[in-house]
Amino acid sequence: AYRKGGYHAVRIGDPFSGGRYIAQRKLGWGQFSTVWLAYDTRTSNYVALKIQKSAQQFAQAALHEIEFLSAAADGDLANAKCVVRLIDHFKHAGPNGQHLCMVLEFLGDSLLRLIRYNRYKGLKLDKVREICRCILTGLDYLHRELGMIHSDLKPENILLCSTIDPAKDPVRSGLTPLLEKPEGNANGGGGVSTMNLIEKKLKRRAKRAVAKISERRSSMVGTLGEEASSKTERSLDGIDMRCKVVDFGNACWADKQFAEEIQTRQYRAPEVVLKSGYSFSVDMWSFGCTAFELVTGDMLFAPKEGNGYGEDEDHLALMMELLGKMPRKIAIGGARSKDYFDRHGDLKRIRRLKYWPLDRLLIDRYKLPEAEAKEFAEFLSPILEFAPEKRPTAQQCLEHPWMNVSTQNNADNVGSQMRNLQIKG
Ligand code: ATP
Ligand code: MG
Ligand code: MG
Repeated sequence: AYRKGGYHAVRIGDPFSGGRYIAQRKLGWGQFSTVWLAYDTRTSNYVALKIQKSAQQFAQAALHEIEFLSAAADGDLANAKCVVRLIDHFKHAGPNGQHLCMVLEFLGDSLLRLIRYNRYKGLKLDKVREICRCILTGLDYLHRELGMIHSDLKPENILLCSTIDPAKDPVRSGLTPLLEKPEGNANGGGGVSTMNLIEKKLKRRAKRAVAKISERRSSMVGTLGEEASSKTERSLDGIDMRCKVVDFGNACWADKQFAEEIQTRQYRAPEVVLKSGYSFSVDMWSFGCTAFELVTGDMLFAPKEGNGYGEDEDHLALMMELLGKMPRKIAIGGARSKDYFDRHGDLKRIRRLKYWPLDRLLIDRYKLPEAEAKEFAEFLSPILEFAPEKRPTAQQCLEHPWMNVSTQNNADNVGSQMRNLQIKG
């Protein structure tokens, strides 16, 4: 895809935006872009540089993403709302065309990698709570303050806040800084001759760095250390579970929707499958699926096409096996309902459902202690309501007792400590 209209090929040490940003190392890629760790010579910080493919439709998509990221940044000057921060954007001309580039704050590994790193065993509930608090803070902000629907929430699109400074921890981050400060000009701009000098120096350093980095190709980006390979137990102790919502390529305004089919399959809400219209609560559904996955290590719904039925119908069947029968009015109310449901509200092709309610699933399959399972199921069940308007908002979820269990425990601890003191006194 490194051709006209496609990705921009980047060499380590390449300068961007008049020399302000220096490419350091590839962080990842998607359908639309490659993402690079870059050094910001103006602020002496590391940033993530997302370089979009150049063809018209990708440029359009980048402008769309920039619109939503800018809105999110403008309303959150303190950068405290758990949404990735857009720092800058610009155009970059290359052999494959003009590429829109987004400069984002540098974050760490995705929750998908965290789940994988943890060998799909599921995280401790207090870790899940910390993560949920961040996601909900982000969603509450997007929904209530901005009127924005993310519409592609999933573990891959939630990144941990990196606790590693790539400059200070070259072993774990697999790189040595390529440029401390461009000499002669602290702003990184300057005259042509200075630029040429810097570029020459960078190219030399880059060659050396490429060799070093390829030796460490398997090391991880930011937070988690090496890729999981051996069977040893992994501890998440000491890993900060703060995270942020990223990837606004599919975001939309609640009052200005354009796409009918939104969300990644496994995290897609029933009203999207049935095409009954949607709102903020589709993000809540995806959040519920994500929370379950964090606790168990398994996707909540992984629909598959089967003999005589499609992925959509399997998806609806899986939902009902977990959550009970879909109320008839909802089942028959969508533009696609007739494809899957008869007029009684029963699935046309999948007739026999095996009900397995959420709390039993957590206890029987995932071996959660009964009390913990029940509490978590009480938190999760309303979020997975078939009726979108009955789902709690992100704000309501933040206030739910389950979200505040740890503070309650702390209060208990404080209470018992005080009793101990009184006894001693
Ligand atoms: P998609 O096909 O998922 O829409 P995309 O081209 O829009 O892909 P992103 O999903 O935004 O690209 O980013 C691709 C990858 O780059 C991410 O999965 C992640 O690994 C990495 N990445 C993105 N943003 C950051 C960031 N701010 N900090 C660190 N890594 C990032
Ligand atoms: Mg993505
Ligand atoms: Mg995207």
